[in-house]
Amino acid sequence: MAKKTVPYKIYLSEDEMPKVWYNLKAAMNKQHPPFLNPATLQPCTADDLRPVFCDDCIEQELNCKDLLIEIPEEIRGFYKMYRPSPLVRAYCLEKALGTPAEIYYKFEGNNTSGSHKLNSAAAQAYYAKKQGLKSITTETGAGQWGTALSMAAAYFGLDLTVYMVKVSSEQKPYRKEVMRTYGATVIPSPSDTTAAGRKILAEFPGTGGSLGCAISEAVEKAVTSDSCRYVLGSVLDHVVLHQSVIGQECKIAMEKYGIEPDIIIGCCGGGSNFGGLIAPFMGDKIAGKNNIDFIGVEPASCPSMTRGRYAYDFCDSAKTTPLAKMYTLGCGFMPSANHAGGLRYHGMSPIVSELYHDGYMRAVAVEQSKVFEAAEYFARTEGILPAPESSHAIRTAIDEALKCKETGEKKTILFGLTGTGYFDLSAYKAYNDGTMADTIPTDADLAKGFASIPDIPQNK
Ligand SMILES: *Cc1c(COP(=O)(O)O)cnc(C)c1O
Repeated sequence: MAKKTVPYKIYLSEDEMPKVWYNLKAAMNKQHPPFLNPATLQPCTADDLRPVFCDDCIEQELNCKDLLIEIPEEIRGFYKMYRPSPLVRAYCLEKALGTPAEIYYKFEGNNTSGSHKLNSAAAQAYYAKKQGLKSITTETGAGQWGTALSMAAAYFGLDLTVYMVKVSSEQKPYRKEVMRTYGATVIPSPSDTTAAGRKILAEFPGTGGSLGCAISEAVEKAVTSDSCRYVLGSVLDHVVLHQSVIGQECKIAMEKYGIEPDIIIGCCGGGSNFGGLIAPFMGDKIAGKNNIDFIGVEPASCPSMTRGRYAYDFCDSAKTTPLAKMYTLGCGFMPSANHAGGLRYHGMSPIVSELYHDGYMRAVAVEQSKVFEAAEYFARTEGILPAPESSHAIRTAIDEALKCKETGEKKTILFGLTGTGYFDLSAYKAYNDGTMADTIPTDADLAKGFASIPDIPQNK
């Protein structure tokens, strides 16, 4: 069959947009070990999770059976405001690189929150509303997730409290105003509004906070308030499920034009965008229908897969959450303060961890100066100012395209461009000023983090 000419940007029509999420777990031969209740070390039941998360999200979290899960009409209605996102053929980048490779990217930055995070924010806010809840809480670091959830909470009519890592709220005051415009209450964390926050403030007065601390505050607020639940923006299986709308759209668009990817690349923070991007393609690989090279890209300064341990660990630094079996640097690991490129989370999605552990994908770690070099090259060739996180994937896509140039192979590369860089201009400033450093943790640094992994029989 002759290939149709591929337009610069492929947009699906409203009718072609996916009506189902792809539950990758149902396609996997081996399930990741269950979450454990840290008090009993027994697998978490739905009832254990009920005080924290919405019922429908818990059901999705524990669902390993249904491969396709219908996207409710109400969520599709929200998605239509900013989806489908374009699948772009990077003609200009290919030409600049002089590569025989074909490069495509799926751009998730075309919404006000600026990233893919809105895909799960919309779903989780809808399920909270459906359950009759009044409010939700969450944490945010750089602000993308808090902004996405603010938009979704406004749309579905929920109150939202966002615990924002204090240094970020000071460095990014305008992010806070976006969230407030959508009606969210933003509290710099650590705060004196929770026991977890007060404890950290007493121990470390003047601390700038951390994501782990903000998570502890948000969870505490959810479980101690009426009609309130906590919402998480990555890592968990139901978040990966919601993000599969990205992979579903890519697959539909690529099949329409007869495009078969040889390599799929995504950046990995908590792993949800990568898990969602690869989901339907990985399901086919597991079924023996393709042999795609899947590459997860992480920062060299926070290398949870390439240098981490596969162990049960807490999802937060205050050690309050259930234990997840995942690749981790230890819940006490803190990336260097010089690291400006995002993707700072100590662990990795249990789904992505299991796939990595079983050899279905590879992981690479890249240094931030190389990431920003790729970001700048991309901005100058393709026109889009990419988020630093997304630029990890750009770096690896460029590296793979350059390998093709050497070997003459005409591979088809797809990567996830998760967001825009407008809110990360201080990181770009450091790069432009030449003050950006690459800090790669030493084995001794990593050992300190590993010491925070719980010493339980399951980890022996
Ligand atoms: C949060 C974020 C990421 C990390 O996503 P995960 O799904 O947690 O890996 C990547 N890119 C952008 C732009 C983000 O905002």
